[in-house]
Amino acid sequence: MSYYEQNVPPVRDTRLKMGDSYSGCACDLVECGRSGCLLSQGRGFWQANACQMALSLMMATTVENSAIVMHAPGGCGALLHSLSVSSAKGKAQRGKAPLTVPWISTNLTEADVIGGGERKLRETIEFADKEFRPEIIFVVVTCAPSIIGDDVEEVVRQARTHVSADVVSLHCPGFRSRVVASAYDTFYHGILRGLKLSPTPWVDFRPINSADPDGELFQKKYLYQKSHTVNIWNATSIGPGDEKEVERLLNALGLKVRFFAEYSSRDEFRLVTEAALNVSMCNVHDDYMLKYLEEKFGMPYVIAGMPIGFEHTRRWILQIAKHFNLEKEAIALIDSEEAVAKKAIEPFVAQIKGKSVLMCGGVVRVGSESTALKELGLKVLSIRAYHYDEGAEEIFEDVAENLPDTPVAVSNQIFEMTHQIKMLKPDLVISHNGTQGYIAKLGVPSIQLFNADGTFFAYNGIYQILRRIVFEFKNTSYRDRLARHIKLPYKKSYFEEDAFKYIKK
Ligand code: SF4
Repeated sequence: MSYYEQNVPPVRDTRLKMGDSYSGCACDLVECGRSGCLLSQGRGFWQANACQMALSLMMATTVENSAIVMHAPGGCGALLHSLSVSSAKGKAQRGKAPLTVPWISTNLTEADVIGGGERKLRETIEFADKEFRPEIIFVVVTCAPSIIGDDVEEVVRQARTHVSADVVSLHCPGFRSRVVASAYDTFYHGILRGLKLSPTPWVDFRPINSADPDGELFQKKYLYQKSHTVNIWNATSIGPGDEKEVERLLNALGLKVRFFAEYSSRDEFRLVTEAALNVSMCNVHDDYMLKYLEEKFGMPYVIAGMPIGFEHTRRWILQIAKHFNLEKEAIALIDSEEAVAKKAIEPFVAQIKGKSVLMCGGVVRVGSESTALKELGLKVLSIRAYHYDEGAEEIFEDVAENLPDTPVAVSNQIFEMTHQIKMLKPDLVISHNGTQGYIAKLGVPSIQLFNADGTFFAYNGIYQILRRIVFEFKNTSYRDRLARHIKLPYKKSYFEEDAFKYIKK
């Protein structure tokens, strides 16, 4: 049975060759990933790890006209208070109604854990349907109902027969995976099983009909548009600025661009297959969905890394252009854009040349941004990827070629990051959101690896990244004061040992 036919999606730990514990160089990492030995590496000590449900919720809250039913104890939904607000902001930034997502919880108690929570779930779905009248209800299955074995799929199947909303189940029990990226597959699995992904005749298009004299012309126009339409698959870390920048470039090649799956509605999902090509912006984010659309609907796809820095952007645009036989036009566009951008960044490049940087965060971004910054004269001291899987192989082959002597770690552990910053003494840390506080306490300049309010992609992106770095070097007051007054919770002897001493087979 294919993964797509299963009720519960696979976790990355079983679907892919991956790992979350490694220290060495890029070329050994690629080899270790390929052979599967990365799977056998872990740690003797873990400081913390994330719940994959957070990322599934991040995506679900962006979907228009939806409601969320948390099948969980009350605490699991706490994150929705902030996620709902940030997704409303994202909707506003994209010209959509800035509505927060209504959500309710089955609020499982100890008695429910013993007696089962299926009745409560059924009643909560029905309540959500009547109360909020959403187009889609996401049923989020968490650790507790997965452990006690609630038959959520049966409850959802029955609910579909009498509620007006489409019901989409998201199976994200946090304990099943060590890799939060499993959450992306969870979300896409729910979408591909719970929503219609093909157009409805007479609603979305006019079928050819001998009694309709304009029918053939109408269809020719429709097919022409479809053959020049590209779906770009976004992510929460990809903001409207990034979307606008890639849309601007692809529009310049005569292509129409649509963004999925975040900030889409049920009507938009129904038209997802009406495009000539699916394009990923992150190798580890959407391969599960893109492979499904190819397998089920014959839609080709391109997974070409992130368009960060000149070289990656060139490759990304060219791969898309190749599909439409537009390589000549793409090269002319890239050359002209590069010339403008290189002139614009000259003053910044002069100020950052030779500075050292430690890169931390998602595997595709750290790999892409490291080689992009090396191109511009920064010295990359070390790269820390939160996890690694075979989707990142191409990017880390590139890292191995361009930064062969740079140490690479696979780690999302704050204590290991702190050790590296203390020992390597970088001039700058570029790190995942949520870690800036730890870095500021060490008195080291840092900028975010991504920020949905900024632009990181393509030519505008490289200008913005460099501008932020230069600003950070000048704006020292807050972190200097913080570092003077904060006492770190580590013993001095900890920093005399290897940063990755806990990693073991
Ligand atoms: S109980 Fe499970 S689903 Fe709920 S927050 Fe914790 S890890 Fe996540």
